[in-house]
Amino acid sequence: MNLKTFLLNHFSLPIIKGEISFCFYIEKKARLGKDHVIHSKACELLPDRSGRIKLGEFENFEKILLAGKKEFKHVRLCSFCCKQ
Ligand SMILES: [Zn+2]
Repeated sequence: MNLKTFLLNHFSLPIIKGEISFCFYIEKKARLGKDHVIHSKACELLPDRSGRIKLGEFENFEKILLAGKKEFKHVRLCSFCCKQ
């Protein structure tokens, strides 16, 4: 399943000209001192503005992880909002 299909199935999103406008963020603080978790904008576990870094908008999970790895060495997708 690609990300667009996944998001359409799981969230009601703002769709502009047929494209999803959806943003991802990474937590500044590592969970259990290891992984920095990446969340979608709609996630209930998303930290507030001071505790996150904006990664931008992406079409697939690999690109999100690559963007996260530019910020931190150990990153993973949130299991709540980014189930694959
Ligand atoms: Zn999340």
